[in-house]
Amino acid sequence: MRIQSVRLRKVSLPLKVPFVTHQAELKERPLIIIEVKDDAGHLGYGEVTAFPNPFYTYETLDTAWHILEDYLIPSLLKNGAVHPSDFAIQNESVQGHPMAKAGLEAALWDLYGKQEGKSLADLLGGTRSSVSAGAVISLGDSLEKDVARLKAEGFQRYKLKVIKGREKEAIETLHEIDPELPIMIDANGQYIPEDMTHLCSLDDHGLTMIEQPFTAGDFYWHKKLQEEMNTPICLDESIMSFHDAVQAVELGSCQIINIKISRVGGLTAAVQIHDFCQSRGIPVWCGGMVESGISKAHNLALASLPNFTIPGDLSGSTRYFHKDLVHPEIVMRGGAIEVPQKAGMGINVDEEYLDKVTLVYDTFS
Ligand SMILES: [Mg+2]
Repeated sequence: MRIQSVRLRKVSLPLKVPFVTHQAELKERPLIIIEVKDDAGHLGYGEVTAFPNPFYTYETLDTAWHILEDYLIPSLLKNGAVHPSDFAIQNESVQGHPMAKAGLEAALWDLYGKQEGKSLADLLGGTRSSVSAGAVISLGDSLEKDVARLKAEGFQRYKLKVIKGREKEAIETLHEIDPELPIMIDANGQYIPEDMTHLCSLDDHGLTMIEQPFTAGDFYWHKKLQEEMNTPICLDESIMSFHDAVQAVELGSCQIINIKISRVGGLTAAVQIHDFCQSRGIPVWCGGMVESGISKAHNLALASLPNFTIPGDLSGSTRYFHKDLVHPEIVMRGGAIEVPQKAGMGINVDEEYLDKVTLVYDTFS
């Protein structure tokens, strides 16, 4: 793959309603959009889904820009790439920064698919033509009204972002709204080992899983908790690489893994984790980061792989944004979203709107 130039854009997409977790409240979603151009004029798109602050993982949009501008892009322009899966190997000497790497690798996968005339889903080994979508309910939502709307839209799984100590109240409210609602909770690492007894008492609530109860990077206490708790533990922030996934599964620290392309360093690592988990009988699902249609398209291709058996944090273009960066917009019907079949990520970028929401850009060649 001969790379002619790479453009980085810092964009900001207005959110329909603020997205609230126990760590932060977002009214707009800033992102970095990456465009990689080849000699024939093909454009591949990727996206860095880090947040402006280091609350989810240590990366921020500013650290990602720095790593892209000073290390990853110069390396790509100098070395080129034979195949997108070479990218991770070529950048092994850059420690960490998986979200920066994942954004550029995603653009290379899209470009490669367009050059080859193959869809990303086909290139990755996808087997489904549509994938099931699960809703994320943020703390700012008014539960009753929003659950009614999300149910009407057909979402097949409900993930509640909880605040430690107030989780039972929130789960019970959801159960009162609908006792059959498939609910999981996401703790984003708020609990400590002293909370084990309290966490085990959540077994009575019939949750489909609890996501990342203990701090990012932990495997030991998650293993201890999973030995005591019937509810499956799903790991998110603890899985920053293929190596982490192997540790988690072999140690018995979880029964489910949330694979986010950005958190694990790119699609190549995401597929590796998928394949390993499949071989160990560990189901996976595709996590989301409140991202644009560019990432959504990459997520849909990944989630079409056979071991993505649990509905992911997947949604249509208008779930969070008034207007998305892609056209036609991604649409959920009856709780499912079609996997794009055209070449690359299989969806067009609305270049006019992208220009409109771009705050700053730089081009490297
Ligand atoms: Mg999570």
